[in-house]
Amino acid sequence: MAVKGLGEYDDQNVFARILRGEIPCKKIYEDEWALAFHDISPQAPIHVLVIPKGKWISVADFSSHGSTDEVAGFWRVVAHVAKKLGLWESGYRLVANMGEHGGQEVPHFHVHLFGGRPLGRMLE
Ligand code: 5GP
Repeated sequence: MAVKGLGEYDDQNVFARILRGEIPCKKIYEDEWALAFHDISPQAPIHVLVIPKGKWISVADFSSHGSTDEVAGFWRVVAHVAKKLGLWESGYRLVANMGEHGGQEVPHFHVHLFGGRPLGRMLE
């Protein structure tokens, strides 16, 4: 699925390769909808990436064209992982970078989950 301005899905992007098992990851959880694993360069004590199994480039792509089951399944994994990591009470932050101005580097939709310390206000 292509998004205007973002081009076609690149099957060789690093998260596609992780999904195919070609690159290892520190897996936290996986089901039919999504895979959650630790970021290779953590920016907080807990820094997890949650990615859908489908070939979605961005949050806009996924939200516009993903099926209801797929979108619900993905967000349930995000919530499940936060709970599994013990962040339910302390709280956490979710970030989805989109395109050039959003600073998205990997062209497979992903949500960053940050936690494990007070994170301050956004945009600081
Ligand atoms: P973006 O800037 O696209 O929102 O974030 C991409 C994230 O992917 C970065 O935080 C980066 O550290 C992470 N990342 C890039 N390559 C790998 C990898 O091979 N393994 C893991 N676990 N994370 C990666």
